[in-house]
This record gives sequence, C-alpha cells and structure tokens, in this order.
Amino acid sequence: MNEAQIQLALEATRVGAWELDLHTGGLVCTPRARMLWGFPPDVPLNLQDLLARVHPDDRERVARIFDKDRLDLQEGFEHRLIWPDGSLHWLSGGGQAIHDKQGRMVRQIGVAVEITDRKRAEEELRESEQRFRRLMESNLIGIVVSDLEGTIMEANAAFFDLVGYTQEDIAASRVNMIEMTSLQYQAQVAQAFKDVLVTGVAHPFETECVTKDGRRVPLLVGGASFRNADSTQFAVNFVVDLTARKELERQKDLFLSMISHELRTPLTILKGTLQVLKRRLKRQEAMVEQHSLEFISPLLKELATAERQVNVQTRLVNDLLDVSCITAGKLPLTLQLCDLLALVRETVEDLRHMAPHRVLLLDLPTQTTVPVLVDRGRIKQVVANYLTNALRYSSPEQSVSIGMIRQDGRARVWVRDQGPGISKQAQKDIWRRFRRGEDLPVGSSAERGLGLGLYICQTLIEAHQGEVGVESTLGSGSTFWLALPVVDQARKPS
Ligand code: ADP
Repeated sequence: MNEAQIQLALEATRVGAWELDLHTGGLVCTPRARMLWGFPPDVPLNLQDLLARVHPDDRERVARIFDKDRLDLQEGFEHRLIWPDGSLHWLSGGGQAIHDKQGRMVRQIGVAVEITDRKRAEEELRESEQRFRRLMESNLIGIVVSDLEGTIMEANAAFFDLVGYTQEDIAASRVNMIEMTSLQYQAQVAQAFKDVLVTGVAHPFETECVTKDGRRVPLLVGGASFRNADSTQFAVNFVVDLTARKELERQKDLFLSMISHELRTPLTILKGTLQVLKRRLKRQEAMVEQHSLEFISPLLKELATAERQVNVQTRLVNDLLDVSCITAGKLPLTLQLCDLLALVRETVEDLRHMAPHRVLLLDLPTQTTVPVLVDRGRIKQVVANYLTNALRYSSPEQSVSIGMIRQDGRARVWVRDQGPGISKQAQKDIWRRFRRGEDLPVGSSAERGLGLGLYICQTLIEAHQGEVGVESTLGSGSTFWLALPVVDQARKPS
C-alpha cells in the first residue's frame, strides 16, 4: 500500500498514527491523532505534552510504556485523557519500536483510537450488574435466575433458605422451579414461564412450593425475561415467603368465626327477652287504667328502640358469621324449587313492616311464576340487603322501586333508589370485603354497616350460578340487580 492508501485506511477507521523520536522526545502525528489527543493542528508536540494530558491515575503506566529501556508497545493499551475543556476520553493504542543498525531503539511508531463510548457502555453494564448483585445479595427477598423452562441457574441465600436446596444441589442436578411447586399450582407456574416468554413478564401471583424436606410454603412469585450477550433468554424471578401473612389471615378468620359465634348467643337471648317483655307490657296495656297507661306507653317505646338496636346488631353479627363461613369455604345452601316472584313479594312485605313510612313501588310481572332452584332464605337475604341499602342511602321522602324482568333464560331482579348514587370507582370497590363507599346522606338516621353486605350478596348469588351488578351515576340514584337462572320447566322430568 502506498502512503495515500494507508492514510485513507487510517481515516476510514478513525485511527490516529504517531511517531515518537526517542532522542528528542518529538512527536509527529496524523491530524486524526491530534484530534484524539485534543491538540490543535500545527502545534509542535512532544511526549511530555501528551503525558500531561493523560489522566493522572494512568500517567505513570503510560510513561512506562514509552520508556525506551523497557518498551513493550506490542501489547495494546488503554488509558484516559483529559482535554483542556475538562472532558474525559478513553483511547486504545498499540505500537512498535524501531531500532538502528546497532540494535538501539531510536523511534516508536503507533496508532490510537477513541473507545470512550465502549468504555461508557461497559461502565454502565458494570454498574447495573452491581446494582442487581447488591439486590440479590441483600437477601431481602428470594431471587432466582432460571432458564425459560424454569431450571434454576443461580439463586440467592434468601431463596435457598426458603426452599431448603443449596447451590451444590443446583450444580449437581437440574432443580426446576415448576417441579418444586405443589402439584395443584404447577400449571399456573408453567403458564407464568410461558407469559415471560411471550410478554416478557409474569405478574406476581400466589403459589406454593414443596421444600427439599417436604414442607409446603406459600409464596408470592413474579418474574421478567432478559437476554444474554449471546441472545439466549433467561428469567429473573422474585420469590416472597407468605407464611407469616397466611398465618395472620388464618388467625383473623378464626377470630372472626369465634367472635361472631360468641356474640350471637347473648344477642339471641336479649332479643327473646325483649320480645317477652313487650308481649307482657302489651297485655297489661290492654287491661290497665288511664293513669297506668302513662307509665306503660313510654316503656313500650323504649323497648321498641332497644329491639331495633338489637336487630341492627344481629344483622352485623350475621354478616360476620356469613363471611367467616365463606372464607372457610363452608356456605351451606339448601336448594329448592320456588317462585322468585313470590320470594321478592314476601321480602318486600317484610320490609314494609319494618319501614312502614317508606314508599316501596313494585314493578313485577303479574299472573306468572318464575321458577328458580335456590336457597329461599339466602335469596331473600340478598333482596332484603339491596332494599335496606336503598332505604338507608336515600332520604325518607324518596321512594324505592323493585322490579323484575326475564331475559335469555334468566330473571333479573332490580332495586332502584333516588339516593346519592355511587362513583364509577366505588362501584367496583363496594363488592369487596369491608369496603364502604361514600358517607351516609346528611340527616340520615341509618346506622353504618361493616361493608360486608354486598360482598355476601355477590358470593351468595354467584354460588347460585347467578350474577350481580350496579348501575349508578353520582347524584342520580343507584340500581342494584341480581340475575338468576330460571328453571326451564318444560325440560323438568315429570
Ligand atoms: P354496608 O353494610 O356498609 O352498607 P354494603 O356492602 O351493603 O355494606 O355496602 C357497601 C357500601 O356500598 C356502603 O358502605 C355504601 O357506601 C355503598 N352502597 C350500598 N348500597 C348503596 C346505595 N343504594 N346507594 C348508595 N351507596 C350504596
């Protein structure tokens, strides 16, 4: 290659070339080398000028490279430079010594190229690896690196402590996250790894693993996929021990069940006693003189107030009991064929009795029956809950309507009020346990519940293969509905 071709090749590859006279220290270089070192064109340069620009931490090492007694330029070397504007640049260089006829080293020639971008990328990678290592070694949660079939490649001490396996187990044989999962959760974990492959993440979910010594441990697991330098994918998974939380939940459910049972017995006795007293006083009221009436009538009023409070309390305790049965998975239903219309009418009549001053408007189909296979008491409980809520959350002068329509083999019972309505967000929340929406209307004399009623309603209706819902706009009242499958009597065996 002639010199012009060499220049062209050097420029195209952004390589700067230089030649150092070891006697004078004079440095001759291509324009590209000057640019890399941050020198202006046409200024005479020597080795000291260049060394002055080398980063102080690298200076001694670079000076040694140019020491004519121990020159070893064949090895590539990397160092930092600081330009006069303060910017930092990484260069990679290499070179060769030229000797005279007597074998004395007289010159060095070499090349330099900028590698700042590569160094920065390496630095960032190192930092992010350090951050990941720090998280992994902090052992706050279990972290597992696995392939996308779930085979564990690496894990931290928190994970090993949790599952009882060791780093040696992993090195000695294939330990797989799916295989260490309890049988009933294995499909879910396998699906999570498929999700990681397709979407890049597996959202956190609860599962259970079997430890090396056979214990079952409840876990919260999630993960995300990453790519190795060779493009193979792997997953980084986090694993959180839920044992303490599950135990707390179990104790809470136990407590719930215990207190609701304990509260119910004295309430039942109290209610019975109040009823006996009321009956006796009423009998007296019919027999006594006017002046004794003045004594009995206020007592009867007081008794009615006490009875109302006992009823409220009974409702709360019953709700607690129902929830405790639901969480224990023991919600007995006694199914029987009955007419849903009659059930709704009966419930409305009961309510009329309890709230005689309220207007309840009925919009029910007449001269027909709507056969459903249900637990009578439970369906009445749901309708009554909708109705009491409608009465509680609207003002006394506002009416409440109850209706039913039949559609696609289902009967839909709805309860509409003219109360404050429910916001879109609250419409989703109110069906959850212990969720209560906005405050009661100002001036309402109704007692607040525990936020369990609608949760129980939903569970009960879903246990009947039905559905519940609410339609509402803030300020314009709410319509709560339930839909149940209607029994097709034509298909019923006679
Ligand atoms: P609670 O016993 O607190 O009434 P529910 O589960 O029956 O519990 O109701 C949950 C929440 O839903 C209530 O606290 C209330 O904010 C809201 N809510 C229920 N029914 C109505 C209604 N008809 N109008 C407005 N808000 C209602």
